[in-house]
Amino acid sequence: MKLTVLGYWGAYPWNDEGTSSYLLTSDEFSLLIDAGSGTFNQLRKHIDPLALDAVILSHYHHDHIADLGVLQFYRQLNQEEAQPILPIYGHTEHDFYYSALTMTNVSQGHAYYEQDTIEVGPFSIKFLRTKHPVPCFAMRITEQSTGKSLVYTADSGWLDAFDDFVLDTDLLIADSYFLSGTENHPVHFSVKEVAEMTVRGNIPTVVLSHLKQRIDLNQLLEEAQAITQDKATPILATTGLTITI
Ligand SMILES: [Zn+2]
Ligand SMILES: [Zn+2]
Repeated sequence: MKLTVLGYWGAYPWNDEGTSSYLLTSDEFSLLIDAGSGTFNQLRKHIDPLALDAVILSHYHHDHIADLGVLQFYRQLNQEEAQPILPIYGHTEHDFYYSALTMTNVSQGHAYYEQDTIEVGPFSIKFLRTKHPVPCFAMRITEQSTGKSLVYTADSGWLDAFDDFVLDTDLLIADSYFLSGTENHPVHFSVKEVAEMTVRGNIPTVVLSHLKQRIDLNQLLEEAQAITQDKATPILATTGLTITI
């Protein structure tokens, strides 16, 4: 499977680059993970949005869903005959946002729950409720044909349950909002927590994402490298970054 970063800033877009969104493909199947601000145009550089097979959302903060509505409009206004209805997976703990996943003849909301393992095309997906001010779910996505997996932390402060959830995954995409020194925050990880989790989890590669504007990102990367040493490779998320798993 192949992961492409479409946006990586936390909270708001910055310097012409968008907030959280990732495209995951396996053979002919394309899954959009979150739909952050400014990422619809990035998505179009990689696939025709009409060819997207499914969307899954970690939570309903704006920096993760801002471009979902315009994706729905694009599909509504460019429908080809017999265009499949786009399945959009989300949690049901906020009626307003969950009901907006369904648009007649365009998209259909599908509920996931914390204890579920769901199948979406070639992927099976498990969830972990994160530490965040609103309901939010990390995802462990496994490509069933190869057994390869990735974990997307979504937005979270540190939780012990992450250690089991990420163990032995092939790629970690982690909320790395804070430099070291802001541990045990109620909303986001620090890079120290991310790097230590990566090492304990025996994970070869970690993408530092959901980045904070106006901090020194080279310092963020160096702080991660100082902890992972030769046990794992931290990579700063950039728009268009592609990793084959
Ligand atoms: Zn966020
Ligand atoms: Zn959030």
